[in-house]
Amino acid sequence: MDTKKFFELYEPLHEELATLSKYICENPELGHQEFKACAAHAELLKKHGFDVEVGYLGLPTAFRATYDSGKPGPTICYLAEYDALPEIGHGCGHNILGTVSTGSGILLSKFVDEVGGRVVIGGTPAEETSGGKVTFAENGAFDDIDAVLISHPMDEDLESGTSLALEPLQFTFLGKPSHAAAAPEQGINALDACLATFHNINALREHVKDTTRIHGIVKEGGLAANIVPERAVAQFYVRTTKKAYLKEVVEKVINCAKAGALAAGAKLEISHFELGYDDLLTNTTLQERLSKNLNEVGITNIKKAHAISGSSDVGNVSYVCPTVHNDYNIFAEGEQTYPPHTREFRDATLRPAALEAMRKNVVAQAMTGLNLILEPELLNAVKSEFQQATADTK
Ligand SMILES: [Zn+2]
Ligand SMILES: [Zn+2]
Repeated sequence: MDTKKFFELYEPLHEELATLSKYICENPELGHQEFKACAAHAELLKKHGFDVEVGYLGLPTAFRATYDSGKPGPTICYLAEYDALPEIGHGCGHNILGTVSTGSGILLSKFVDEVGGRVVIGGTPAEETSGGKVTFAENGAFDDIDAVLISHPMDEDLESGTSLALEPLQFTFLGKPSHAAAAPEQGINALDACLATFHNINALREHVKDTTRIHGIVKEGGLAANIVPERAVAQFYVRTTKKAYLKEVVEKVINCAKAGALAAGAKLEISHFELGYDDLLTNTTLQERLSKNLNEVGITNIKKAHAISGSSDVGNVSYVCPTVHNDYNIFAEGEQTYPPHTREFRDATLRPAALEAMRKNVVAQAMTGLNLILEPELLNAVKSEFQQATADTK
């Protein structure tokens, strides 16, 4: 593949993309409130001939942008995120993340008039909280998509790996208030039910797979020490490496709460305080081609993904469409690096090394999109791996 042509077509975009990333970094917005970021992406995509639907699937800050060659061919999708964190703004670098996706789509669109196919950019809000990609995946947004690519800024170059499936569980224990000293026998202690749940879960830890994570807090634990607590609320994130195993663990965790409630004589209400995420099924065929293209543009030190990471709503996408979610280093060689969710990481997203990483990653992602359009055998291999991987999880 002629990388020179990609870089030539990229260069006029570079300033626009750098400006978009900087603007979003300087105007951080929390999940589902990313009105400025969403509008800025939409404006740039419209300028480059995309049809843009802002406010997609009932999510006001989601968008779907399409560039259709009008000729038959596959549909390649890049996913943009643009939500920030409280206090530290774009500490996760979603300003540059979204910009790389939008840039990759625009660059690929410069080829499809000739070769056919379509390019779609999904603007997916609120990755850090209640992920927009879950709504996308559950409502058929990927039904007409052949492959999904998304890259996250990081402090090293990593292949797409896996992420933990997650279920956010809330337990509300309801007891009966009474004078804690004068008539404790007439009260039902909801806090006891809650604390017993934590003990039960701590015992459960020894009997679940090593890759399981169960972590929780007490949100409400009573109002005054001299009143038997009438109401207690605990929230837990339950995570495992596989969606199917998560179900088993969640059932056990719920039993821990039921046992706690039973012991105290309290009632138990079970709910979800956020959306659950599936684990990430990386399409390795797609990753291999992406890595080859990254090597060609000069990113060579790409490491295997870490065995355990957090959770992401990209997981839900990977169960409905072939997906890669790799990471790219935004720091200069020899420079002190910082992990995401820090102010230092946020500031690094605007520096020359990050902009150079943006240039190379946009080119490699657009090249991979063009590979999928031009090589039916590659796309078939990607799809059969996807079918196998999703069948294995059932
Ligand atoms: Zn992130
Ligand atoms: Zn993050």
